[in-house]
Amino acid sequence: MGALGKTVVLLLVAATAVVCTPFVNDLAPGQEWPARNSVRQPNFGESQTEAVQEEFSTDDPTSEITDDAVIIGKAIQPKTDIQRVDYSGAQIWKVSTEKSGSRAVISRLRRRNLISTWGGNQYSIDILVKSDFVRNVTRVFERENIQYEVVILDLQKNINDENPPLDENELGLQDRRGHRMTWKQYHRLEDIHGFLDYLAKTYPSIATVTTIGKSHEGRDLKVIRLSDGKPTNKAVFIDGGIHAREWISPATVTYFINQFAENFDVESDDIKNIDWYFLPVVNPDGYEYTHTVDRLWRKNRKPYLGTRQCTGTDLNRNFGYRWGGKGSSSYPCSEIFRGTRAFSEPETQAINNFVTKSAKNFTAYITYHSYGQYLLYPWGYDNALPPDYKDLDALGKSMAEAISQAGGSKYQVGSSSGLLYPAAGGSDDWAKSQGIKYTFTIELNDTGRYGFVLPTTHIEPVARENLAGLRVLANQLKK
Ligand SMILES: [Zn+2]
Repeated sequence: MGALGKTVVLLLVAATAVVCTPFVNDLAPGQEWPARNSVRQPNFGESQTEAVQEEFSTDDPTSEITDDAVIIGKAIQPKTDIQRVDYSGAQIWKVSTEKSGSRAVISRLRRRNLISTWGGNQYSIDILVKSDFVRNVTRVFERENIQYEVVILDLQKNINDENPPLDENELGLQDRRGHRMTWKQYHRLEDIHGFLDYLAKTYPSIATVTTIGKSHEGRDLKVIRLSDGKPTNKAVFIDGGIHAREWISPATVTYFINQFAENFDVESDDIKNIDWYFLPVVNPDGYEYTHTVDRLWRKNRKPYLGTRQCTGTDLNRNFGYRWGGKGSSSYPCSEIFRGTRAFSEPETQAINNFVTKSAKNFTAYITYHSYGQYLLYPWGYDNALPPDYKDLDALGKSMAEAISQAGGSKYQVGSSSGLLYPAAGGSDDWAKSQGIKYTFTIELNDTGRYGFVLPTTHIEPVARENLAGLRVLANQLKK
């Protein structure tokens, strides 16, 4: 194994002295900001972990072995001891799967831990080739006559260039605005949560922030509700950041929040006749981890303490409709580990409780992911369609048309199992099973040029296009 596979990550244990920070909007414009990272972080040393000893099969055909952080000890480590996962020399290839047998070759390479997989569809799969195995994998593909294209030559370089610091001008604007969100940068969780709190305090008649639960490591799961409170309003639930590394998702969802909250009075009736519920970061532990340790972390951060000590459940395989089926793994080290039971994770549990116990009548659920540019509707668990799939397909196509007209990106529309591959335990299937009619998983840009590591210059164009798509959905709901 190379630098990647062998990377041992020390678990950060929060320092005991935590500075208590005032809400950012308690500060008058121009006043000093609280120092970055001074917001209280969960105490990792105290996080409770369920000891789960459930059996899992290692010969599961869907299992794949992936890099995993190994937690060593519970000693308190100063923050500087965080060792970032280094992707120098790792490459992203787009591999054609037209030749029969090519998927099996890719699966084998993945099981041997030479590669991991990113996006994919019926025609190709994007793979991450670990730095030490570039030659090895090249030889395998040449021998098997499998076509591929190198898309990213040095992944670490892309990661380094992805999220540059704001320039002086932007920093000045940020100080006057009352919150730190910019959509010119991918922000840390404290900026996102500070932004939600700022809106609730600035626009109390339409914005309310509720913490619907806590992540495994104790971070808040914050939902902002934007509504004028009319009893006839329909309700829509939108989330982002289920998968930690898909940074464009929380950026896009917070862009919508900003547009609606800052312009509520002049917004269209379509928008004002909806109670909007936004959970921009479903997986805050994973999200922070992608900023501090491993840019490409996907799952949550709850350790599995069986014979295999691996960390993280794929939250989008943990929802409770047809949980445990195709496209999910019982192997805790897999990137698509489904957890030990449906809703075994606090993050998925919180959403389930909030949506099912709320008196609100949700008529739409949209979950934003990346990447691939797809508008997907149920079912995901298998090649099957809900009875009203034609309504979803028609709306999806109108949304895709609006996205294309607004900015030019082409989004494909279809059922997730049909267009991509079956994957049971997804949040969209669960939402549909709860009777929420318009349920979509949206895979944001791009189609693989940058993949998960989408430069910040793409945030505003992607978010703006998708706002046009969301307006089409809002319009449909009044019918
Ligand atoms: Zn995702």
